[in-house]
Amino acid sequence: MRFAKVPKRPTDHISNEELMHDLILLLKDVVAFESTLAQTFIHNGNVKANGNGNGSKNGNGNGNHLSENDFASLSAVVQKITDLHLRITKRNLDIDDILLDASRQVGIDLRRLLDDSLKFPNVVPYVHNLQGQRRLFLCYCGENEAHDSSGLGLCHQCLEAALECLLEKKKDNKFILYSSYSPQVRCRHADFSTLLITLNKPGLWPPAWCEICLKQEKQRLSG
Ligand SMILES: [Zn+2]
Ligand SMILES: [Zn+2]
Repeated sequence: MRFAKVPKRPTDHISNEELMHDLILLLKDVVAFESTLAQTFIHNGNVKANGNGNGSKNGNGNGNHLSENDFASLSAVVQKITDLHLRITKRNLDIDDILLDASRQVGIDLRRLLDDSLKFPNVVPYVHNLQGQRRLFLCYCGENEAHDSSGLGLCHQCLEAALECLLEKKKDNKFILYSSYSPQVRCRHADFSTLLITLNKPGLWPPAWCEICLKQEKQRLSG
């Protein structure tokens, strides 16, 4: 594939510290693409550009690709990372400790992000937290990844627990049960008397779901 042209900096006069500093800055640029990826529904784990941005493997008809501009921007960042990584490798620098340290500071696995970036576009450089989960796919509980990004956004555990809690009207600190006269906090099936459930997350306002929402989601995932 063709990458966007990136201005080359003089290689010999950069200190090892500056190289590492640049690498971490570039990885933060990749992190900034998370919001773009969030808006782009990706089925197959590969990032592809719409149009003819990536040469041979051009579009598979599902329409869920990065825009050509976004693809080119991400490619440009990745190309800079690839160049920098090559320089670092030539100097035989051990970057693991520095990346580990920086990872702890930002709560992101930067080593993994580097590895995935180097494999772009065959691998999507998702941001993984230190527990190895993709932040984009985290359930509202913040503990597990949701099954996929097309459903309610709940992990398997929360889906099962929410349905049980709703059906049995159980007291459970993890959830809040309510009915509401305000349509904006109800799902599309509900009226003012429908029992709804949402996660108890102070400071957040996750969506609320009714029995139909949760049962349909279970069905979708088992189908
Ligand atoms: Zn969950
Ligand atoms: Zn519903």
